Amino acid sequence: MKQHEELESRIETLLADPAYAGHPLHEALASLFECYREQTRQIERVSRIADRYQDAERDRGLSYAARYQRQLRQVEKIVRISDRYQNMLRDMNQRLHWLSSRDELTGLPNRRHALVRLREELQRLGRSGGQFCLTLADVDHFKSINDGYGHDVGDRVLAAIAHGLSEGVRDYDVCARWGGEEFLLLFPHSSIEEVQSVLGRLRRQVAVQSGELLPAGAAGLTLSFGLTLCRDAAEPLDAILQRADQALYQAKGQGRDCVVIG
Ligand code: GH3
Ligand code: MG
Ligand code: MG
Repeated sequence: MKQHEELESRIETLLADPAYAGHPLHEALASLFECYREQTRQIERVSRIADRYQDAERDRGLSYAARYQRQLRQVEKIVRISDRYQNMLRDMNQRLHWLSSRDELTGLPNRRHALVRLREELQRLGRSGGQFCLTLADVDHFKSINDGYGHDVGDRVLAAIAHGLSEGVRDYDVCARWGGEEFLLLFPHSSIEEVQSVLGRLRRQVAVQSGELLPAGAAGLTLSFGLTLCRDAAEPLDAILQRADQALYQAKGQGRDCVVIG
């Protein structure tokens, strides 16, 4: 580079020297030098254009990448918000579903849920056969608890009985609040004998609760039960429930604190 500059500077000096003004090579050298300079300028122009184009391309590339990254981040954010929103909705839905199938006082499944489970059990019977037992249980003389100790105590007694019953059955049995001081117990895949033995245990459990919940000397808490077996998937649900209800009615008629099979 330095050599080029020195040569250019020497030629410029020679061409400018009046001593060589009339020399026959002066004009040819001057033309050649001009030609050389023009080509140099052209090359510089082209390379400047090429540089500018490359810079512009790089800038454009960079800004596309930057824009793409920014949009990607925005999309990720929207997806995260949407996921959170969907999870929230799903949780709320599950919570609502749970609340709508629960009894507030006892925390047990409510009558609606019990009916859903009963229908499912009948369908299962239709598919795979087998049998299930259904029991309606009613607290004996419960009105006297309310009358004697107040409604709040009555509520606590109901909640405690509900807890005792639900703890005393298997996980896949259903223990629901059928209404008032009545409970429904559904025992899938069970025989009358098996359920009678479970009910015996539950009755002892309720007797223990009497001692814990009521003042000494109070009449003991007891339950009456109507128990029925179902083997026929075609039997209407109402008919099965009615059988259990009639058996319960008979249990009351027989003096309460007993199990009647209907
Ligand atoms: P029986 O042995 O014939 O069943 O007599 P009982 O007194 O248990 O039956 P009855 O139907 O005469 O009274 C039931 C009572 O249960 C009346 C009602 O106020 C009370 N009860 C129903 N639901 C609740 C509740 O959620 N809390 C309270 N504290 N009492 C309730
Ligand atoms: Mg009742
Ligand atoms: Mg009662």
